[in-house]
Amino acid sequence: MNRLRLALLATVITLLTPAMVVMAQEEAPSVTQTPLRGALHVLQGRGGNVLASVGEDGILLVDDDYAETAPAYSAVLDQLDESGRQPRFVLNTHWHGDHTGGNAFWAERGAVVVAHINVRNRMATRQEMKAVGRVVEPSPKEALPVVTFGHSLALHFNGDVLEVQHFPEGHTDGDSIVFFTAENVVHMGDLMWKDRFPFVDVGSGGNVFSLIANIERILARIDDQTTLVAGHGGPLANKADLERYLAMLRTTSALVRDKLAQGQSLEAITAQGLGDEWSSWGEHYIKEAAWISFIADSL
Ligand SMILES: [Zn+2]
Repeated sequence: MNRLRLALLATVITLLTPAMVVMAQEEAPSVTQTPLRGALHVLQGRGGNVLASVGEDGILLVDDDYAETAPAYSAVLDQLDESGRQPRFVLNTHWHGDHTGGNAFWAERGAVVVAHINVRNRMATRQEMKAVGRVVEPSPKEALPVVTFGHSLALHFNGDVLEVQHFPEGHTDGDSIVFFTAENVVHMGDLMWKDRFPFVDVGSGGNVFSLIANIERILARIDDQTTLVAGHGGPLANKADLERYLAMLRTTSALVRDKLAQGQSLEAITAQGLGDEWSSWGEHYIKEAAWISFIADSL
């Protein structure tokens, strides 16, 4: 398309109704990619951070962002794999739409979607996310994981062994994290938000205190050379970042728990706040007041 036609198109778009203009803007979400190690690339669009393995065995995705971003991911993958191969596997770290929205798009192109059984169960039924005041209708059949597991699963792909392991009652009841054991890379799903308070979906079986236990277990498995991909923020993090995140989880949850035990109200605790050390952690999607409520709801 030449410049004149682009200019004409821009004029036409400005003549459309405001709602249509918003649609036109949303049709072109941008996705960036960063090479990580070996076959691994981190892709970032609008939702959760995505990890792609692109190599001799084909393409595998860990999470696939919102549905409307899928064509932009497809364009980036076409650049990474010029032979035009489509993903063979999509692993979902949990059921939320900012991590599973692309499932139907990729399944239609031949991908096998893999997730913990609770991910399929929640996607297949109507979900009320009370904490954020949202109702999520059941996903179409094409979007549902077709390979499910209860505890863990291994995939042998692109010269690596991927250990997909369920960690119960963290961010939801169906969180898995993916260990790329040869490359020493771990996709943390939404068990880790880098330098920000996490969303803990208590209504979906998440719990702040079990999340702490999960992070302790993960820390015992990784080393100083491990590269972590956080579900949100970052995207890249290391063991020291996860230790700092654990310190935040422990300190703030103990503070709220103790004050509630002393008989203070949630309103009073929220008004006092969690202290200056963690104030920057609340400058993102999950504000300090929401984080305090997740802790209280987890008790
Ligand atoms: Zn999530």
